[in-house]
Amino acid sequence: MVNSWAQINTIIPKPIKVHECGTGEFLISEKIPILYDAPLELSANFFKQYVAEKYQLSLPVKMVGSKKNLKSSIHLSLKSDAPEGHYLLMIDKNGVQITGSESGVFYGVQSLIQLLPTSEPTKKRELLVPYMNIADAPRFVYRGLMLDVSRHFFPVEFVKKCIDIAAYHKMNYFHLHLTDDQGWRIEIKKYPKLNGIGSWRNGTMIGQWPGTGNDSIRHGGFYTQGQIRDLVAYAQKRYITIVPEIEMPGHSLAALAAYPNLGCTGGPYQVKESWGITDDVYCAGNDSVFTFLQGIIDEVIDIFPSKYIHIGGDECRKDRWKACPKCQNRIKTEHLKDEHELQSYFVTRMEKYINSKGRTIIGWDEILEGGIAPNAVVMSWRGDGTQGLEGALRAKHPVIFTPSYGFYLDYPQTSHEDSLAANWGGVTSVKKSYLIEPITDSVKSEDLRLILGAQTNIWTEYMSNPAKVEYMMLPRLSAISEVLWSPKESRNWDDFKNRMEFQYQRYQWWGYAYNPVPADNE
Ligand SMILES: [Zn+2]
Repeated sequence: MVNSWAQINTIIPKPIKVHECGTGEFLISEKIPILYDAPLELSANFFKQYVAEKYQLSLPVKMVGSKKNLKSSIHLSLKSDAPEGHYLLMIDKNGVQITGSESGVFYGVQSLIQLLPTSEPTKKRELLVPYMNIADAPRFVYRGLMLDVSRHFFPVEFVKKCIDIAAYHKMNYFHLHLTDDQGWRIEIKKYPKLNGIGSWRNGTMIGQWPGTGNDSIRHGGFYTQGQIRDLVAYAQKRYITIVPEIEMPGHSLAALAAYPNLGCTGGPYQVKESWGITDDVYCAGNDSVFTFLQGIIDEVIDIFPSKYIHIGGDECRKDRWKACPKCQNRIKTEHLKDEHELQSYFVTRMEKYINSKGRTIIGWDEILEGGIAPNAVVMSWRGDGTQGLEGALRAKHPVIFTPSYGFYLDYPQTSHEDSLAANWGGVTSVKKSYLIEPITDSVKSEDLRLILGAQTNIWTEYMSNPAKVEYMMLPRLSAISEVLWSPKESRNWDDFKNRMEFQYQRYQWWGYAYNPVPADNE
């Protein structure tokens, strides 16, 4: 089957403008070169590799030289004044032309990929693409996907697959939740016990929380710094920045199990084998805690070029701090009002350190409590996300919208998913995710610039294997990609539902597990 006009309008996320331009199709064969302007080699090679892998078609790739014969080619050109992410895609009898900003050309390649057949072409080594014109650009500058590798550890190859899924959906941030109570997943050379002890747990809770027992199977692992550098480079080639998250002051039991002197009670502690949160957190009155975390941040900053470093800041219980003489002494000497202000002291002190290295912190919306650190970006997650968003805007801080009701992909997709395993939260159908709107009516126009974008999160307590993660991610990630990329006015559920039929074919073509949710499931 070759492409038809009907298929042109199936691109996800939906482009701003798609025009037919004449009737006909351009034939891509092994005689057609990919020609590119110097900075666009990544996009040229991405496309070359894609058609080689999927269609066994080997296209020549050449940088555009002084002799510019661009006819009958796939020509990628840089438009130096194009806004970030902007591209034009034109296909006519002369060939395929993609022009735009550097990342924009990459997104143009993603759109072109979605115009290709979702099966082996009947005529080998030839692909037909329909004549057309696309003008497109992203709605938000931050379009994120988060993967929790702490609750369950996933192999590097699978993390790369998730990065690919994000790239196909024109997302540009991949947030790695690297540390939590249930496991420490990044190699830290200065503190080897984080990996020797903190990366492993002796068993995992069975079934829905609070559980029906423990499987007593040792689970864990961590990424070496070499593996992480490889992941960072892999993502960069797809115009994706990996944002590392090192949780503090809560969700830190794996670190405390390795270094018990950093907790208020001194331990002993164990890497957590069940889900939910814990009373034991870093002691905010102990200066060794800050020295320790700064040492970790030094290594993290060295591996991750990301401007943003996520420090967590969520769900930090205050019971231990209330009973701890060191924490109480800190409250007194720093003239703090209570334990909420102590948390703010903790985050602000770490923020100062991270800012001194030229980076910016992101924290979950609890960092608003007790006074927000001066330069922090807020990830608004609780409830429908609006409270955190509005709180951040009132404080004039940048915010990323990631509502648990709608954008948490660990929530079940249908009400009858219980055969799969346990889940958190209420039913979040693909339709519900699709209809989430980050900019509510209450947002003032002068605050719009503070809304950087949005992110969808995959927490993996109840996902012990890659196939389950994919199944929970798709098709909701496709729905969310339109919230992040496409203009608000173009969002139309019925239209999306029709386009999803093609997207399901692409999932199969790409080799993804997904939940073929009845589209009208609420
Ligand atoms: Zn303490």
